[in-house]
Amino acid sequence: MSSIAALKQLYADIDALQGAEALMAWDQQVFMPPGSAGARAAHLGCLLRMSHELFTSDKMQRLIEEAAKEAEPGTEDAATVRVLKRALDQRTKIPATLVEEKGRLGTLGHEIWAKARQDNDFGHFAPILGQLIELTKQEGECLGYTDHIYDALTDQYEEGATKKSWDHMFDGIRKPIVELVAAIKEAGPVDDSALYGDWPEADQRAFCDHIARAVGFDFNIGRQDTAVHPFCGGPSTTDVRLTTRFKNYLPSAIMGTLHEAGHGMYEQGTPVEWAGSPLAGGVSLGWHESQSRTWENIVGRSHAFWTFMLPKLHEAFPATKAFDADSFVKLLNKVEPSFIRVEADEVTYSLHIMVRFEIECALMDGSLAVKDLPEFWNEKYRSYLGIVPETDSVGCLQDVHWSAGAFGYFPTYAMGSILSYQVFDCLRADLGDVDAMMAKGEFAPILHWLQEKVYRQGKRYTPADLVQRVTGKAFGPEAYIAGISAKYKALYGI
Ligand code: ZN
Repeated sequence: MSSIAALKQLYADIDALQGAEALMAWDQQVFMPPGSAGARAAHLGCLLRMSHELFTSDKMQRLIEEAAKEAEPGTEDAATVRVLKRALDQRTKIPATLVEEKGRLGTLGHEIWAKARQDNDFGHFAPILGQLIELTKQEGECLGYTDHIYDALTDQYEEGATKKSWDHMFDGIRKPIVELVAAIKEAGPVDDSALYGDWPEADQRAFCDHIARAVGFDFNIGRQDTAVHPFCGGPSTTDVRLTTRFKNYLPSAIMGTLHEAGHGMYEQGTPVEWAGSPLAGGVSLGWHESQSRTWENIVGRSHAFWTFMLPKLHEAFPATKAFDADSFVKLLNKVEPSFIRVEADEVTYSLHIMVRFEIECALMDGSLAVKDLPEFWNEKYRSYLGIVPETDSVGCLQDVHWSAGAFGYFPTYAMGSILSYQVFDCLRADLGDVDAMMAKGEFAPILHWLQEKVYRQGKRYTPADLVQRVTGKAFGPEAYIAGISAKYKALYGI
């Protein structure tokens, strides 16, 4: 057997273990009885240890080295070696003691953070946040970097990204978005109170399933359930699990479903022959988010989409008959600076991320002390969004990420929004009148284009290479700025 074949065989075992982990983790959020957490943690812990040991085994290391000599440059095999080598590096560069200590502090940090958020007591969270930052810096030193420690951290989430590349991204959107938000504010408030109500859960569930099916999520190799925090998971690209939740704001579950279905269709788009291989699934967090946002924002918040879907909505929720496509889409795209990132609209969302990015960089290079974080946060919100949170609970304590020591993750969300427009512009150029298709409920050509160009490429190319291949240029904010400016200026008549 060739080294490449042996390497793929070894990885198939790791993938099987990881699939079992994913299914257990999904079940934990969806079906597991509350008293079963102890047993689940033990079982999951054992599987995680086994897959980690296989991944970091001498055999794996040796096979990667041998396969690297065997694989022809530019081939799928070469990509397989590259992907596995990067994953192995990430797992082995950081000493086990540091991983363990961060795991321990992260669990503790999560508990302390939840209490601090509940009590609006940043002082309670500050000491452990300081410890987590110190550990994360050590991690960055182990991983290595050339310019800024942030480079090492963020590369774990987005291959090839650096502080400089994120600076460039945010420099391109800061001024135009802040100005657009100000202009929208001038145009006056939008009253969307009609979207709040006692919408029956069973009706919401049926409508959400309908909408996921309509855009092309394949229920033959996927399903949708409810969970407290919606996510897309599951054991394999041929078994994708979406979750959603139902609220009194009608678009919440609908938009959430389209978002998670976007993640899910990306996974399901993996070529069948790659299922369970190192090349299966989305290439990076930023790319993944670009697809969830494509289906949620570009498709799901468009006039064309609701031209087709509104009669169905009227049928499911008769109270919505008061709306036509014009009025409904205007409410659905309401823009208003607010404190909570996860509830933010499409325009202000990136500003929330920019605040976090600037804070993370400052915390990592020591220019911001932990004790000064709340004031710094509030000042950034004032300058970018024009609002100042009244409490830290809805300010710097709102996100879970830092409590687990995840620094460098946030920018991938903004990258997703920005990249979604860059890719969709190319889709429009190829397919012609996409709005006319959506207005007739024809989503298949859109899905097929994305499958062909993006989903079927899996992890074959690096994230930056894939951007170049799909769009013909490097990642940049131009299409995003042009797209959302045009969309919201039209909606708000400015
Ligand atoms: Zn997402």
